[in-house]
Amino acid sequence: MGPPGAGKGTQGAILGQAMGLPKVATGDLLRDAVKRGTPLGREAKAVMEAGHLVGDDIILGVMREEVGKPEAAKGVIFDGVVRTVPQAEGLDRLLSEKNRTVDAVLFFDVSDDEILARLERRRSIEGRADDDPAAVATRLRAYREQTAPVLAWYEARGGVHRIPAVGTIEEISARVRRALGK
Ligand code: AMP
Repeated sequence: MGPPGAGKGTQGAILGQAMGLPKVATGDLLRDAVKRGTPLGREAKAVMEAGHLVGDDIILGVMREEVGKPEAAKGVIFDGVVRTVPQAEGLDRLLSEKNRTVDAVLFFDVSDDEILARLERRRSIEGRADDDPAAVATRLRAYREQTAPVLAWYEARGGVHRIPAVGTIEEISARVRRALGK
């Protein structure tokens, strides 16, 4: 978890590789669906480009599909997936049906100023429509209003690791490994 631009994707990929687990990023799956013009992509496109969150039912459907894949049998690294309390509740239900749980939550902690600078850089490199200033403002608001409460929800259950997410990629991934005792 963490605000947009916190480094979830980068660190999730490193961790997934180190642990031999697939990384599941709903943002990547949705962007791919938009590019391919699937029904899911057509439904999500405008919402994503404006910087709003896609509906919980859609996201829970995607999570169910991903968790059910054979390559997810040993676990997955979710990247930016649980972004609302109903998603967190839905994921718990979905996992408990399979006698599985969320083992750890990593929260990547970065200041707003740093985020704005990173997203501006990413926009010039990746050209993501939702990295333009208006969409970024909407995404940060969605994060504060809908996603930040999820952190409190998980903190109340224990198992949240706060990772200061400023520094080099290597420094941050070393913090992740330490937090997880790897
Ligand atoms: P990301 O690449 O993680 O920044 O996601 C890009 C966009 O996809 C977000 O701004 C949302 O519109 C949508 N999205 C990705 N994951 C979720 C989620 N778990 N819940 C709701 N919307 C999501």
